[in-house]
Amino acid sequence: MEEWKVRVGDVVVKAASVEELREWVREKRILPENYVFHPVLERWMYVKEVEELKAELSNLASTPAPFQRRRANGTAPCEIIICPNPKCGYQGPPRRLRRGDPATGCLLLFPFVIPGIFYFMLRSGYRYVCPKCGLQVRSDN
Ligand SMILES: [Zn+2]
Repeated sequence: MEEWKVRVGDVVVKAASVEELREWVREKRILPENYVFHPVLERWMYVKEVEELKAELSNLASTPAPFQRRRANGTAPCEIIICPNPKCGYQGPPRRLRRGDPATGCLLLFPFVIPGIFYFMLRSGYRYVCPKCGLQVRSDN
């Protein structure tokens, strides 16, 4: 039985069909560097190596993708998560939140300029949370 799977970090997500996989490529939920399990070849390979997805990938390359612009800013691309909360089990893209609270940073910045700067430096990444139950899945750097 044909079954496509995608591995994003430690998470493996099953795709119902190659069409679903193509949709994920178009939506940039999976990237050329992600691993895909090819059910016919029966091995893991890069998304960019999959014959069935090459048309989608070249379409992405020929259009100025918003993902590439976002990456230039140093923010992470959209990924797929599976919520580790067993009561939730959400699968899909996470909600991305800024780690630092800008108000706290400004408060520190005003009377103590140096601590404020450190706060912004340390808290400049993003947290990824489950949009369904709010559990933190992972965070950048
Ligand atoms: Zn959840």
